[in-house]
Formats: sequence, C-alpha cells, structure tokens
Amino acid sequence: MDISRRHFFKISGALTAASLVNTDPAAQATQAPAIAEDSYGCLVDTTLCVGCRKCEQACNERHHLPKPNESFEEMTVLENERRMDETSYTVINKYYPKHIGTLTWRNRPTFVKFQCMHCNDPSCVSACIVGALTKQENGSVIYDASKCIGCRYCMVACPFQVPAYEYHNPLTPEVRKCTFCYQSIKDGGLPACAQVCPREVITFGKKPELLKLARWKMKNHPGKYVDHIYGEYEVGGTSWLYLASEPFETIGFPKLGTKAPPRLTETIQHGLFQYFAAPIILYAALGGIMWITGYLKGTKEVSTGETAGRGDLR
Ligand code: SF4
Ligand code: SF4
Ligand code: SF4
Repeated sequence: MDISRRHFFKISGALTAASLVNTDPAAQATQAPAIAEDSYGCLVDTTLCVGCRKCEQACNERHHLPKPNESFEEMTVLENERRMDETSYTVINKYYPKHIGTLTWRNRPTFVKFQCMHCNDPSCVSACIVGALTKQENGSVIYDASKCIGCRYCMVACPFQVPAYEYHNPLTPEVRKCTFCYQSIKDGGLPACAQVCPREVITFGKKPELLKLARWKMKNHPGKYVDHIYGEYEVGGTSWLYLASEPFETIGFPKLGTKAPPRLTETIQHGLFQYFAAPIILYAALGGIMWITGYLKGTKEVSTGETAGRGDLR
C-alpha cells in the first residue's frame, strides 16, 4: 500500500484518536514478521575469504553506486576497519589473529564481509512507523523511499549499525543499505556478491539448508571453526549466517542476545503509548516532516525527472 501524504494524515489522525481511547497495551502490540520456513539466506565462510573485494565491486555495480575514491584493486584500504555507508552496501574488513604465538593454520588474517544481516525480526522495521522498511517472505529487508520521512529511527534501532543516510543530499535524502538483491532473488537469480565470489565464500540458499551445511562443515573439519554459527540465534536469527575460525567478537561482530530487540522494547513502547499524549505531537511533527520531504522530492522530480535510487532492489 502506498501511503501518500494525505493518507498519512488520515492514518495518523485515526491512530492518534485510537491512542486516546484505547488503553489496552496489547492493542498496540507489534507483531514479529512471519518468516517463511524456507526463506533465503547466505552462509559466509570467512575461513575461505582472501579479501579480494570483488564482492564489493559487484555490489556497487549492480546497484549503480558511485565508484570509490580508491579503486577496488587497492588492498591497503583493508588495513583500516570500515563501515557500510550510502555508497557501499558491503565492505570487507581484515582482522589479524589475536594469538600469534599459537602456531596453527589460523595464524593468517581473517577477512570478513559485512552488509545488512536481514534479521528475522528486524529492529529497523519495528522502528519505522511509516512502513518504509519491510521484511519480505524471501528473507530480504527492503526499503521504500516513497514512504520514508527521514526520521532515521531505523539507524538508531539497528543492532549492527547498518542503515546509512544520504546526508550529502539535502533535498531528497534516502536511507541506504544492502537490499539482499531482492529483485534478482525474486527472479530466480543470485545476489551479485555471491555470484561473483571466486572462492565460494558466500553460499546462497534456503536457510535450513545453509544451517545443515554449516553444521556439516564444522563436523567434517574438526578444529577449523569456532563452535558458533553467528546469526543462527543472535537477535532472534538473521538471514546472513557466518562461520569463522576466530571468536566472533575478535573479528568485528557485536556480542548480542538471542531475543529480537523489537520483542524486548515493545513493553516499554506500549507503556509510553498507553499513558502519554506523545502520539499527537509525534504524528503531527512527523506528518509535517513527511509533507515537506514529499514536497521537496516532488519538486526535484518535476524539475529533473530523477528517480534513481528509489526502489533500488536489483
Ligand atoms: S569476493 Fe569472495 S573472496 Fe573476495 S573478498 Fe568477497 S567474499 Fe572474500
Ligand atoms: S541488520 Fe539492521 S538494517 Fe539490517 S535488517 Fe537487521 S536491523 Fe535492519
Ligand atoms: S546481497 Fe546484493 S545488495 Fe547485499 S551486499 Fe550482496 S550484492 Fe550488495
């Protein structure tokens, strides 16, 4: 459903009214998205990655992102830990082993590919009050710029600090992050990064199969992997799963609980919405922001015909 500005005001008015008359916390409960049993995911075996950055390049090209200042052949960029931003939906980082004295095959750097984890119960989706971010049945968490009001709650909510914002774009800024190549998957294709990887680091498939593969690898290569599939349980599970030979907290992964953050915060949210008049102010303010944002976007489209970036789901 496309929420036009007029619809937004109607809906916000109705919601505000509802918040005043309905004091049952359960009535405002957010539901965890229904995840198809066989939704897609990717298993990243970090022990195979050589840090060639071809996945970064393929992602940038598929999504028509700007070329980086330094070429994708430049390996010195790996010496500094990087984050995804509005021009890079995925980055490779390099981590040196912590225990050099222990002479095992592990004494080589670990290269880790980061991107949106496409959580099963995404905090960004829960935080977005206008439904600009949605969890799809195939596992992707996708963004609809036409609904976004630029509040950036999604950025605050994400436990992996993934969504980036186009601060450099004052008129039509958008939130940017990995789309899990939503349209390609829908059309029976592969994510660009998984397709291009020369080392088969990234296995794309149905999540139950990926978990089976991960367990098979761990069983058949004793001592190679730490006994942990990152993303199997973190924040309620994620579509992207990882295997590694080093403890995950030493290679850039946050230590997180198993409960999805939206399930932890909903009690607080319900309390707030039950007892405060905040919804009136909040919806009025956000409605104003949405109208201005929409007006500016409309102005730019009329003057330039530009729609690039919107619904960028390839
Ligand atoms: S393309 Fe494959 S091997 Fe190269 S950096 Fe990406 S994940 Fe690693
Ligand atoms: S990693 Fe962050 S941006 Fe990606 S789905 Fe999870 S909460 Fe949303
Ligand atoms: S799944 Fe697609 S959007 Fe996400 S990192 Fe890979 S190529 Fe980029």
